[in-house]
Amino acid sequence: MTCPHCSHDIPLTWKKYFGSPLGNHVCPGCGKNFKLALTASYVVLLVAASIVATGMPTVIAFFFVHSFWYTIAAYVVFVGAVVIPFDRWLDDKVRPSKPVH
Ligand SMILES: [Zn+2]
Repeated sequence: MTCPHCSHDIPLTWKKYFGSPLGNHVCPGCGKNFKLALTASYVVLLVAASIVATGMPTVIAFFFVHSFWYTIAAYVVFVGAVVIPFDRWLDDKVRPSKPVH
């Protein structure tokens, strides 16, 4: 992600990602605050990825095992393995940053 104040390029680490669930960050270059904007393209990409990566495999898992709890466990694994890394990538590369004053 890029600082909107000074254009400093900041890698979004896992620590930063989990430390800021709402997308508020402090630039290490200029020390100013900024946040990641919630854009339509980001929401659409994330929802589409969630459906493809978790919904369909979860339905398939349920079809094979017929176990509610196994299906929930499979869903959690799919979210952790695919959706969270994809969300971090979107935060880093797709979501524009907005200055916070
Ligand atoms: Zn900056």
